Amino acid sequence: MSQLRVTYLLTSLAIVLMPQYAAAHDGFTARDPSQKIEKQVGSLREKMATAQAAGVPAEALQSARFVYLAGVAWRNLAITVCFWNGSKATQDLVMKLANEWTQYGAITFSAKTNGSYNVCQDASSANIRVSLDDGDTRDLYVNQEDNRKGNWSYLGNVDLSTYLVTLNLPDVVRLRTRDPGWTHHAIRHEFGHALGLEHEHQRAECAGWFNFDEIAKDTGWTVDYAKTQIGTFPDSDLAGLGTVGGYDKNSIMQYNFAKNWLLTKPGETNPCIRPDIEDLSDKDKAGIRALYPPVEAMPGPHAGLRSAKGKEGEPVQSRPTSPEDIAKEREKLNQIQATLQAKALQRSGDAEANAKAVHAAAALQDVITSLDQVESMMRPTTGSTPPAPNP
Ligand SMILES: [Zn+2]
Repeated sequence: MSQLRVTYLLTSLAIVLMPQYAAAHDGFTARDPSQKIEKQVGSLREKMATAQAAGVPAEALQSARFVYLAGVAWRNLAITVCFWNGSKATQDLVMKLANEWTQYGAITFSAKTNGSYNVCQDASSANIRVSLDDGDTRDLYVNQEDNRKGNWSYLGNVDLSTYLVTLNLPDVVRLRTRDPGWTHHAIRHEFGHALGLEHEHQRAECAGWFNFDEIAKDTGWTVDYAKTQIGTFPDSDLAGLGTVGGYDKNSIMQYNFAKNWLLTKPGETNPCIRPDIEDLSDKDKAGIRALYPPVEAMPGPHAGLRSAKGKEGEPVQSRPTSPEDIAKEREKLNQIQATLQAKALQRSGDAEANAKAVHAAAALQDVITSLDQVESMMRPTTGSTPPAPNP
């Protein structure tokens, strides 16, 4: 925790001492704390990449990807929001920007009751429970690391039933007039996480292009912690979890990095450098639409459609995500695993083929085990009607 205090002190000093702070992003405090789920998803990605290399059929990995995406996207398409604190003006700004996402995907944020913003009272007040004030003296971070400093959100439909705050935006109040662009980026970015999206800059394309020593120096983070926030996810064609489509350097889900955080190499162009942005990119819009396709595409009133786009340019594939459909994909996964297992047990004279079969069966079993672990962190799918907001 001490390094976090240092970060805060440095941030405060930067604000006080550096009028150019706003443009320079010295006081970068974004630190999405969803480490538990992201570590598990990272592990699942790694297992999927290994399985793909081991020759596990693509169909099995597609099923695993389907089960993950169906779990991380919200089932209820009206996602409820409440505020622990903050002025109406700040709440208005937050919801105005958050609602931009809802123009592109079949979801709505329900933040008001009878014309007034929902006030959070406990962990069942709403799906997304926002704090805008890191000076709030109540104990709002019970059962979780005290993350009152910095802007962050947990990821999508993760089970957060014991946490009071699920999305934190304290810097909005400090920076909304000083640096509107930074503020707009922060709000849109954190609500992207809340809808299930992960960091764009953690994709394979940016591997090797960050200066982690500089990042650690500027933030007060350790190099290892910086790597968890900015370093690259294990990746493969089929392990694209929490991201949709090809790498998009203009994504709102990428940080606006300070120049010294990105490496330059002679004769090469860093593929992840871009000017600071504050708007959703075209691919952000397409991505949220793919994760939450239009309601009219749904075949029945209770059968939600989810989809996931493959590599850039591939058609969007719609997939129904009723519990039965998820069970079907699970069954497919288990059957392929049983086939691989049977093959692994058959001994032929070809030692190399035997070893390969054993390796593939083990790799897919690892994917299934890892997927179970991720699934156990999601909000239960049964009885998934959203909790009613408080009046
Ligand atoms: Zn983030």
